[in-house]
Parts: sequence; structure tokens; C-alpha cells
Amino acid sequence: MKKQFTAIISLLVLTIVLISMYNINSLESKIKAEQYSRLVNDLSKVTTDFGAWISKKVQALNTAKDIVDNFSLEEITEMSSRNFFLDINNDDPDISQIYIGLDNGDFITGSEWIPPDDYDPRERVWYKDAVIAEETIISRVYIDRETEELLVTISSPLHINETFVGVISTDVFLSNINDYLKKSIEGEKIYTYLLDKEGTFIAHTDKPELIGQNIYTDLKNKVYIDYFEQVKQTSKIVELEYAYQEQEIRGIVQKIVDVDWYMAVATEEEDQGFFERIIDKNLILNMGIVIVILILIYFISRMKSVLYKTNKTLVSDNEKDFLTGIHNRRYLDISLENIWESARDKNDLSLLMIDIDNFKEYNDTYGHMKGDEVLKLLSNSIKDLLRKEDVFARYGGEEFVVVLNNVLSEEAVDIADKIRLAVYELNIIHNKSPYYRVTISIGVSTIFPSTKTKIEQLLNAADIALYEAKNNGRNNVHVNNYIS
Ligand code: GH3
Ligand code: MG
Ligand code: MG
Repeated sequence: MKKQFTAIISLLVLTIVLISMYNINSLESKIKAEQYSRLVNDLSKVTTDFGAWISKKVQALNTAKDIVDNFSLEEITEMSSRNFFLDINNDDPDISQIYIGLDNGDFITGSEWIPPDDYDPRERVWYKDAVIAEETIISRVYIDRETEELLVTISSPLHINETFVGVISTDVFLSNINDYLKKSIEGEKIYTYLLDKEGTFIAHTDKPELIGQNIYTDLKNKVYIDYFEQVKQTSKIVELEYAYQEQEIRGIVQKIVDVDWYMAVATEEEDQGFFERIIDKNLILNMGIVIVILILIYFISRMKSVLYKTNKTLVSDNEKDFLTGIHNRRYLDISLENIWESARDKNDLSLLMIDIDNFKEYNDTYGHMKGDEVLKLLSNSIKDLLRKEDVFARYGGEEFVVVLNNVLSEEAVDIADKIRLAVYELNIIHNKSPYYRVTISIGVSTIFPSTKTKIEQLLNAADIALYEAKNNGRNNVHVNNYIS
């Protein structure tokens, strides 16, 4: 019972562990897949928003450029500041003034700003980059002279009558980009960052201190580099999964084609959303099913063990003789068949048929109760002489059978005689017996079980031997071996 209990408990624990592992595993991958598709959506939104925002700046610049096209060079250079045609951004605080650097070193602006004497636009990053590119570009990140803020400029080479005259440009402050991106992801449990083609942070909504830092030269943590290299080689989304400052980061990054910048959205693995999603309806449902199954398994096992026990007692009761406690005829029949099968074509099988002598007279003389006592006494003393594997059964009335598997004829006779002697020596008084005591007669038969022989032949032969033993004066052993 203890063993069974342990087995059931082990089974339960194993089931729980397996199902939980399966659940957690499939849940984890489900969460990951869900997280990934959310990130893809987020990235697409942020990228689209940002694309619209930056293209507005480019448009502003192009509009200014179109206006400038209608002027002559003289008209443009008339005023160095407060040029109304460059002041087109009143309704958009993100668009700063548009200005022009001329190739003679002059600086023209829509604002009131007057550059210092040593200022030469031709040495500025925005000017040089546009000249080299020969098209509208976004410059590298640099620091504004006045405000010392980080910025990029959108700049474009300016031609009048197809002659290059300078560069028209507008500033985009990185803090503005960052603020814009923050608004774009408001309410989402993600952050976003933007790298330019050189690997410099244009924006980082989670760690603004990284803005302006280059992943190759300024960062100790080289983890960004791998992903950056990967994404530079593909136009597809690259998945990010790394630890940063002891936090598990999951994210995706994609190139913004028009700008040649790289936009990423990411989330920390252990944010609130992760736990919220873990305790989803499916998990509770699965756990519910698991618990129900376990309870069922428990009750079925319990019922089975109770049934098994009841059945076992019933079976053993059916196989025992109620008076003597030894096996009954029913058991003898079954076990004789089994032994026959196991001995078939292998070894000899001997059988003793035992019958109490003059037992009718004993009952008549001493009473049926006394007769019962004798039956019990004899059974116990015969049982003590047998091996564990021998079958000893009450065949009926005052007759007993002993089955001796793998015992040769002579050996069986020896055993039979020992039994006969043991009963004799019990010396149970029986005045009507010629021996003045209770005696038994035994018929012995041995057979080699095969397809040609039968159990009935063995029993009959032993019966005949017993009959002979009785004829020989009782308290006797007689052999009758069946010869096929
Ligand atoms: P034999 O030497 O030829 O075997 O003579 P016997 O009297 O033993 O043989 P018989 O077959 O004539 O009688 C068997 C007797 O065994 C009859 C019955 O009173 C007795 N007997 C059978 N079963 C029981 C039992 O369960 N209890 C008691 N007390 N006696 C039984
Ligand atoms: Mg008899
Ligand atoms: Mg008898």
C-alpha cells in the first residue's frame, strides 16, 4: 500500500512537472511571438510617424528652395537676416529657421541671428556634407555653436540659373526628435532609439544620455554593434535579444530607407506587461484542466487499489479450504494446469493422493467434531514436510493431494512415506483401526508432461495407486506410474 501510494504521488508530481513544463514552454513561446508581433506593429508605427515628421522638415526646406529659385542672387544677398521668404515655419515649433550659406562665405537667415565675424558657413558640417552629396541630405550629428545642443541639419545644394551658389539648410535638434518619438510611443511599454548611418544615437527615449554617443567609439557595451552590422546588411527587420545593464532586452530594428537611419523599438522582458500576459485566460484554463485530471487520476488509483485489495481477499478465500486452511480443490485444478504447462516437455511431475484410513469409523466412534480436529492436525503436519513450491490441497472429504513438480518417482515415494510416517507418529488414538491410531494411505504417480499425456491420466494413476495401497492393508504407499 505504501509502495502504491509513493508510486501515485510520484506519478502526480511527474505529471504536474511535465504539464507545467509544457505549459510554461508553450506559453513562453506564445508570449515571445505575441511580444514580437507587437514590437513589429510598434516599429512600423514609430517609423511611419517619424518618416512623416522628418519629411515635413524636408518639405519645408524644399519650399524655401522653390521660393529662392524666384530670386536673383542680388535679391538673396540683400539682407543677411530677417528674410521673410526663409521664415516659413511659424506654425511648427519643430522647424527652426531656414538659412543659406553662400559659396562666397556670406550667411543669410530668416531669423534675427547675426553670425559672429569669424563664422564661415563653408566650414560647417551641413554645408560640406551637402556639397559632397550633391543632393538633399541629413548631416551627421554635430553640436550647435550657440546652444551647444546636438543637432543634425537637412541641407541641400542651392543653384541659381544652374550655377551652384551655396547650401540651403535647416536645423533639426535631436532633443526635438526625441520628444517627438516619446510622444509617438506614449502609453506603450516600449522605448525607441534611432541611430544614424555611423552608429550615433540620434534619439533614445529610455536613455537620453546616450544621444550623440557613437556605438563604436563611445560605448563600452558592444552589444549594439552586432545588431547594427546585421541590420545594415539587410532591408528586413532584425530581432534584438540581449542583456543591457542586467536587464533582458527584446526588440527589433529596421532601416529607415529614405534617411539611412536605423530605428529600433525595444522592451524589457520583465515589464509589467509580461506578467499581465502570463496570467492569461489560457493558463488558468489549462491549469484547471490539469487539476481536474490529477484529481481523477488520484481517485481512480484509490478506487483501483481498494478494488484490487478486495478482489485479492475474495480470490484467496475462494482458493482455501475453510476447515483446514490449506488449498482447496478449485486451487488445485488451476495450479495443476499451470504446473503442467511449466513442466511440459521439461521435467517429471509427481502427484500424491492421500486418504485417511477407516475414517468413517473414526467419526462414528469419536464424533464428527473430533474428525474435524484430525483433518486439521493432519493437514498441518503434512504441510510442514513440504517445500514452498509444492501444492497441497484438500481434494475432498478426507482425501488430500500433493503436487511435486520436478520430482522423480523414487523421490516422490520417499516423500510419501515420510508423510505416512509423520501421520503414524502423531499417534492419534483410533481403537477401530488395526494400528490403533489414525493412519493414511498414499497413491503415488509420476508423469512426464507432454502433448501426449494429460492431467487426468496422472490423477487416475494416483487414484489407482491409492486403491492398491488400501488393498495392501492401508498405512501404505503404492506407486503407479503412467506409461504412455
Ligand atoms: P477407507 O480406509 O477405505 O478410506 O475408509 P473410510 O472410512 O475412510 O472411507 P469412506 O469413503 O467410506 O468414508 C469417508 C469418511 O470421511 C466419511 C465421512 O464421515 C468422513 N469425512 C469426509 N469429510 C469429512 C469432514 O469434513 N469432517 C469429518 N469429520 N469427517 C469427514
Ligand atoms: Mg476416501
Ligand atoms: Mg478414507
